[in-house]
Amino acid sequence: MKRLFNVDNWKIIETGIHKEDFRLAESIMSLGNGHMGMRGNFEETYSGDFHRGSYIAGVWFPDKTRVGWWKNGYPDYFGKVINSINFIGIRVFVDGNEIDLHRDQVEEFYRELDMQHGVLTRKFTVVHGEKRTEVEAFRFLSVADHELATIRYTVTAKNYDGEISFVPYLDGDIRNEDSNYDEDFWEEISKEVSDYNGSIVMKTKDNPFGTPTFQVAASMAIVANGEVKAVTFSGKNEYVDNTITMTAKKGQPVTLQKYVAVTTDRDYEASDLIEKGKRVLERSVAKGFEALLDEHKKGWLKRWEIADVEISGDEEAQQGIRFNLFQLFCTYYGEDARLNIGPKGFTGEKYGGATYWDTEAYAIPLYLSTASPEVSRNLLVYRHNQLEGAFHNARQQGLKGALYPMVTFTGVECHNEWEITFEEIHRNGAIAYAVYNYVNYTGDKKYLHEYGIDVLMGISRFWADRTHYNKKKDQYMIHGVTGPNEYENNVNNNWYTNLIATWTLKYTLEVIEYLKQNGFESRLEALEASEGELAKWQDIIAKMYFPYDEEHGVFIQHDTFLDKDLMVADDLNPADRPLNQKWSWDKILRSCFIKQADVLQGLYFFNHDFTEEEKRRNFEFYEPMTVHESSLSPCIHSILAAELGMEEKAYEMYNRTARLDLDNFNNDTEDGLHITSMTGSWLSIVQGFAGMRTANETLSFAPFIPQAWKSYTFKIVYRDHLIQVKVDREHVTLSQDGPALSMKVYNDVVVLEENGQLAIALKRN
Ligand code: BGC
Repeated sequence: MKRLFNVDNWKIIETGIHKEDFRLAESIMSLGNGHMGMRGNFEETYSGDFHRGSYIAGVWFPDKTRVGWWKNGYPDYFGKVINSINFIGIRVFVDGNEIDLHRDQVEEFYRELDMQHGVLTRKFTVVHGEKRTEVEAFRFLSVADHELATIRYTVTAKNYDGEISFVPYLDGDIRNEDSNYDEDFWEEISKEVSDYNGSIVMKTKDNPFGTPTFQVAASMAIVANGEVKAVTFSGKNEYVDNTITMTAKKGQPVTLQKYVAVTTDRDYEASDLIEKGKRVLERSVAKGFEALLDEHKKGWLKRWEIADVEISGDEEAQQGIRFNLFQLFCTYYGEDARLNIGPKGFTGEKYGGATYWDTEAYAIPLYLSTASPEVSRNLLVYRHNQLEGAFHNARQQGLKGALYPMVTFTGVECHNEWEITFEEIHRNGAIAYAVYNYVNYTGDKKYLHEYGIDVLMGISRFWADRTHYNKKKDQYMIHGVTGPNEYENNVNNNWYTNLIATWTLKYTLEVIEYLKQNGFESRLEALEASEGELAKWQDIIAKMYFPYDEEHGVFIQHDTFLDKDLMVADDLNPADRPLNQKWSWDKILRSCFIKQADVLQGLYFFNHDFTEEEKRRNFEFYEPMTVHESSLSPCIHSILAAELGMEEKAYEMYNRTARLDLDNFNNDTEDGLHITSMTGSWLSIVQGFAGMRTANETLSFAPFIPQAWKSYTFKIVYRDHLIQVKVDREHVTLSQDGPALSMKVYNDVVVLEENGQLAIALKRN
């Protein structure tokens, strides 16, 4: 654990430059607005080690796959989140000396990410000999006008009269740090530059894989406030700039505003990109900085109005949940149905693709409650649109039906480790589970005949083909898989995979029955579901094998798990952790240590199908062996621990998920933030501490409050209701906007009246 930032309710504050942890701080200080985003890079030059990263949503590149030994079924390319034009850059010269915070003497460095309003500010003083120069840099990526980025850069010559030169630029000569063959993915299409203006259009290079290329344009308009002595401009390959020299009188600030519009051919004709960008700039400059800032802030406040979680009595926890919600919404707020939620969002390049099972398993539950239902529906339709790709993936493995990819942009798999690509097939079940989750939560059954059934049929057909029949035992099995615990590969009968496969078949049969009874037979006919096929599914459901151990009374993670040398993670030498950075892969695979919830993931998803005793036994058996080295792990444990009354454990796991990046728990935040797991802290509070469930058309809560907290409050959108839940040390208080609602609190049926309020004594604390 490493803490560089002050604890504060709404802000992330860094005082002093942390040169050794520079990349870590850059990740934390990232900003985004769904359309684009960047790491917390400096505008001006920094000659030390750093990772420049600016990313545009939906813009990617198929990097040639690099593997030692090719295997049939591997994808041809690895889809990369692509580092794009650096559009924030401003070089700054003080009487001819360039500001470089790595080399210069810097005093009073202060960097602040204001999460409530979505703005990043830096203040510092640079000392060049006798000259002291104060700088304030302020930027935001507008959530009111998504193509707009705005920077205000103010310089004050504190104790001298001099000259400040600003060189705002757009640089398209950008590479990914992690490209497989060190290739450059971009080429210039055009550029224009004149006084106070510039633009550049870059295109991703043609590729042999038949995937789309993208054009991105960045256009800038510069506004200088102060006495301008000279303006010049220049352009070289993949680059344009302006040089604006201003008179700096002692103690009087001079300011440069840089407005940037980023447009892409995902939205417009390629030939219109500059024109469209210019329009964004014209209207932005006309509105002016303060008005733009105002509408941007209002946008963020509106998001917080629904999604904020207030915690009283624990600032660390408060900061953690807000940071996670902030970075998640910077990545995705559901405005563009063509997008998904990449595990690093706009904060780094590690992990290819933009779409993982993380979205369905971890993100959709949060968006269901904190945004309008269209957002989750869009995420579901996204998968429906990619069904062709999923059919392709199954065919690649010689199998029927649809296999949704582990990693993708288009639906076609772009991950190339056999143990994941071929074996980590449990991911397919999460896509089906999300259909169930959405319909169950929203009540939108129309979704089933409009889209859902196609996806469910495809996935079920895959499962039916991927299981095999063991004649001797008269049971169905699934061999050669990797469960959610990626610290074991090629295992047989991973309990979770067998469970989710069987559940998908059952649920699809239920949906088929529902469609038959509601006049959608023609939909089923088109899908050619024969009686024989459905009977085979019934047989698999009836005879699926689930490994179980009588002695411990637990579901066995997979056939040979209990043959391992079983140890507890607390007995590991702390110097050996995290295992994935300290141990050989061979040692990890043979060990009993579990990366993330595996059996417990099943108990979480299908919570109502298991008794409390079953959940307790399995939790007590598996959690001690779990090292939580996937950021997706702690929240599932927090939720189950909360349900089982292990409140300290639930709280410990909450803190781990809430402050995973802020405290760099997994020692890898320098690569970027763990965006998809940021939902975990919200899930831990709402489904964990407050015990929210939505089974059988009934909303229910069973809250407790962690010892350290005085109260916590959150809101959820549930069907026609906006419900606020406040838990303090004595009561749970529910209030709502919406019609009367019958629900359960601690298993008692209660009615929350229309626009009413209800206080119930807290039974657990
Ligand atoms: C986890 C996967 C997850 C992926 C992306 C891996 O470390 O084990 O479950 O899908 O990260 O977040």
